[in-house]
Amino acid sequence: MHFSWPAWISSVIEIGSLSIGALLVVLAVEVLVQGQDNSWNVFRKSKGRRFEMLSWSIYLLRLNPLIWDLLLLGFLIRLKDWLQIHSLDMYVEKGLFAQISLLILGLLFYDFLQYWSHRLKHRSRFFWIFHRWHHSTTELHALAHMRVHTLDYPLRTLSVAFPTMFVMGVSFENVLWLWFAEEISQALCHSRINTDYGFFGKIFANPRSHRRHHDISDDQGNFGLVFSFWDRIFGTARDDSKSFAAQTGTYFENRNYEEQGALKMYFQEYRELGKWFLQKIISLTLIMRRAK
Ligand SMILES: [Zn+2]
Ligand SMILES: [Zn+2]
Repeated sequence: MHFSWPAWISSVIEIGSLSIGALLVVLAVEVLVQGQDNSWNVFRKSKGRRFEMLSWSIYLLRLNPLIWDLLLLGFLIRLKDWLQIHSLDMYVEKGLFAQISLLILGLLFYDFLQYWSHRLKHRSRFFWIFHRWHHSTTELHALAHMRVHTLDYPLRTLSVAFPTMFVMGVSFENVLWLWFAEEISQALCHSRINTDYGFFGKIFANPRSHRRHHDISDDQGNFGLVFSFWDRIFGTARDDSKSFAAQTGTYFENRNYEEQGALKMYFQEYRELGKWFLQKIISLTLIMRRAK
């Protein structure tokens, strides 16, 4: 009899092994180039390692994707069928060259949306609540790219993954490849290798450009996650020549996140979100009362 894992467990294995695979590739490169000063050694001794461990455990529970995939993806696919909208892959031949072109186009489109979604998270006080957890790391290393708050995923799914699938018609498998490309790029961008990739840095986001993005005194720039040219096109590229000396981290009530504990700060983001909604409701009621 053929044995297969229940869908939930196999998605945990699939996602987990893709992430770990990407990370191992980057760690191997780092050990070759950096020796002792590699991300694993820094992570083991870092003050904020519980932040990564907590993010990673919750991520592996797959709660968000489960909710979003079931509720939204099914609905959107049905809507698309009903409106008879064809994605780009309907017009592309089945050959290998055509499929690779579609995948590259998919990655460009995916990262373009990622750029704007990321920029929004930094520009809006509301969306910053979802993303500042990622910026709380005080020592950048390859594992720090996993420090993503649960609240951050729905926005990514809605503003990046779904539109990509809608327009490109990329299958689930192809989306996994796009995501794997992003994982490798992001693990490299947070790594300890002090490089801007030389000429390729004009095309790809790199450790120096992303460190500048994490700089506490940053005036908000270098939002690109796979490609670096979006920032040049849209005027958000920043000088990264000294970024390896940058100070990073997030502060709450004048205290560094990492000093206040991972669990406390994790729930703090939910509290902040609740407070935001409460403030909006109160001010809306006040406006309505005045209008009477
Ligand atoms: Zn950011
Ligand atoms: Zn980052």
